[in-house]
Amino acid sequence: MSNTLIINDAIMRMLSAAARHFLKTAAKEAAARGQELYAIGGIVRDGLMSRPANDLDLSTDRDAIDLAKKLAGLTAGKLTRHPRFGTATITCDDFHADIATLRRETYEKPGALPVVAPGSLKDDLNRRDFTVNAMACRFAPEPAGELVDPCHGQADIAARLIRVLHSGSFRDDPTRVWRALRYEQRLGFRLEDATEKWLRRDAPRLADISGERLRYEIECVCREDRPEDIFRRAAALGVLDTLPGLNIDDETRLRFETARTLYLPKKPPAAVYLSLLTFNMNIEALDGFIVRLRLPRKAALVLRQTNGLMLKLPGLKEDAKPSAVTTLLQDTDVNALRVALAAAGSRSVKRQIGDYLDKYRHVRPLLNGDDLLAMGIAPGPALRETLRRLRSARLDGLSRTKQDEMALVAGYTSKTP
Ligand code: ATP
Repeated sequence: MSNTLIINDAIMRMLSAAARHFLKTAAKEAAARGQELYAIGGIVRDGLMSRPANDLDLSTDRDAIDLAKKLAGLTAGKLTRHPRFGTATITCDDFHADIATLRRETYEKPGALPVVAPGSLKDDLNRRDFTVNAMACRFAPEPAGELVDPCHGQADIAARLIRVLHSGSFRDDPTRVWRALRYEQRLGFRLEDATEKWLRRDAPRLADISGERLRYEIECVCREDRPEDIFRRAAALGVLDTLPGLNIDDETRLRFETARTLYLPKKPPAAVYLSLLTFNMNIEALDGFIVRLRLPRKAALVLRQTNGLMLKLPGLKEDAKPSAVTTLLQDTDVNALRVALAAAGSRSVKRQIGDYLDKYRHVRPLLNGDDLLAMGIAPGPALRETLRRLRSARLDGLSRTKQDEMALVAGYTSKTP
């Protein structure tokens, strides 16, 4: 009796209608050209687990870019070629498909990028990170649907285990450390015992990878539904020691959850989660973190502003007027304010930041610059200062109408020597 498992329908069921149509077209085209075509990696794992999948990873035995070019034309997708890697990406409405030529990878130096050469399906599966990601399903030539599972990924799915393919896997590519924790938490699996041992042993090698690669991994963590679980697990396994000074405590989970509610229905940007982990670092440690991850300027600003703001917040009196709250908060990025709202310990400070975000920051004086010029205020600093005072007055309930503001302006000017 054959042990062949047919899983193409299980994969198809987890795809959007557009992705399903694309895969059918790809299989037909590959067959017409006499090429092999496999769905490979995460899409097979997700199909076997009945989890929805957005992205298609496909591999063929030759000419991936040429096949991709034809498929982009047939499906009105946008083609991006990566000739250095012999791969191409086709972006369609609600998914993208990566098409690669089957390849073999060898690591000449641990932590360096691999040397790539054409290879067989088995070679291609053997270069992968975990058994659950080292499966393929044939879509061309017919008969389609056969599961190719030389590393026993299906058994590990059943046992809910993340298992590397060999003892040197994390040493070859330390980014797999973060990938392992990501899959473990996302899928509700656990690290297989030897895998956990090797991960603990080789995690310090994360220190050797470039800032860009490390940042990519950390950003992937931040895109998961509950990054806090991954960071806490990383702390427990000693992985977080490779990013010194990060702050994980019992409150972290709560702060992450609060931050998420502030961004619904979207997810918070990575900089928000990272700010929640760094807000009470000292400034040298924070600079070190930003440099290590080569954070882009905008993200670094959110981390720095949050850090600075958290130092200033204790100075905010419980009965501070709205104008005083606004003066303290108005030059701070909204993301940093949301982090501070999630991280602040004091209820009154949380309320004040919330009021600033919801109300105060939208308040403007009723008189505008032209009105003030017409009233004889000089352009430049005097005009700016008058607008600021009018805004403060409105925030603090000292003026409600244009007439109130005109009276205030008259008062300011009569007092000016
Ligand atoms: P996700 O659902 O996060 O997209 P995925 O499994 O599709 O999961 P990708 O990062 O898109 O993950 O990678 C696609 C496939 O490429 C993986 O399933 C895995 O087989 C392989 N892969 C990716 N990164 C590595 C790596 N660092 N080492 C070995 N194999 C990798």
